[in-house]
Formats: sequence, structure tokens, C-alpha cells
Amino acid sequence: MTADEVVVLYKENGALLQGHFLLSSGLHSDTYLQSAKILQHPGHAARLCAAMVAGIPADLQQRISCVVGPAMGAVLVSYECGRALGVRSLFAEREAGQMVLRRGFALAPGEGVLVVEDITTTGGSMRECIAAITAAGGQVLAASAIIDRSSGFSDFDDIPFFPLLTLPVRTWEAVDCPLCAVDGTPVKPGSRGLH
Ligand SMILES: [Zn+2]
Repeated sequence: MTADEVVVLYKENGALLQGHFLLSSGLHSDTYLQSAKILQHPGHAARLCAAMVAGIPADLQQRISCVVGPAMGAVLVSYECGRALGVRSLFAEREAGQMVLRRGFALAPGEGVLVVEDITTTGGSMRECIAAITAAGGQVLAASAIIDRSSGFSDFDDIPFFPLLTLPVRTWEAVDCPLCAVDGTPVKPGSRGLH
């Protein structure tokens, strides 16, 4: 699956909108992404996650025996990547503000893990998930995401990162927003899930 095909699939499913948006951070952006709109279709999720897995070098793939993603956004991504790799899938979630493995999820000491996200912007929740995996005894061998919106980092603390699509986020403070100059007030679609 090429980067262009990922963009087309997102657009066709209303998961990638272009316009003038107010993000939950208060910044303005010309792009709005909502992976849930595409992951609601199991066939699309399976196809995207198979392509994510295919982008990971074979020698690393062979050492992965578990996929973990941060809830909620990455639960389905982790599940479909697990299916593609033929390994199990877990998710990390917050407990008292800290990302941890709950629900009886456990990793064997040194177990090889792929950590995944739907969309990375700052990489913050990916890093928290990596910390949760490490704390549980796992060894994170690789990271992946459907879309990487960061404009800088490519690796997480020496963990190789293989996003399916790189789409740097374009955001502005309201006072600097070029869209405000021509388009007035930005749209705020939904309240959460904005990247
Ligand atoms: Zn604006």
C-alpha cells in the first residue's frame, strides 16, 4: 500500500478533511484526521495494518511476539497488526494518570514487542506506552503508526520507527493563521480525537 493510497483511503472515508480547523490544543490547522472513521471498517483496518507490518524489516518481524498500543486510538491498530504478524495483541491504558498494562496482560521477560499508534503527533503517548512495556519486562523492538504527523523525530529513543505515511502537521497560533486571514472562523469537528 503506497502513501498515496493511504491518503486516498482516508479521504474517501471522511477520515482526512482539509479546510480550516481549531485543534483541541488551541492551534489552527489545515488538516483534520480521525482514524476512527476508517478503522470502523474492519477490512480497511486489516489492510492498513498489514501494510504497516510489511514495512518492518523481516529480521525484526521474526523477533516480535506481541503488539501493544495505547488505548483508545491504537487498540484496533494493535489488534490488526497482531493478526498480520500472527502474534497476540495487548493495549496499555491510563491508571491514576500513568500508562500501564492492566486486565491481566503480561509480557515474558525480554519478550519482543512492536508498539503501534494510529497517529503520532508529538509521540507522547507512544513514549508512555514504551515505558509501560519496558516496566512490564518487554523489549520494544520497533514502533509503527498509520500516520506520523510529527515534524522532527523519526525514532523513539533508538527504537526504529516505521510509519506507513508521513504527513507533517501544519498548525499555527490563531494570530499567525493564514487561513483566518481569508476564511474567518475555524471549524472544531468533535471535541476529542483531533491530531
Ligand atoms: Zn485560523
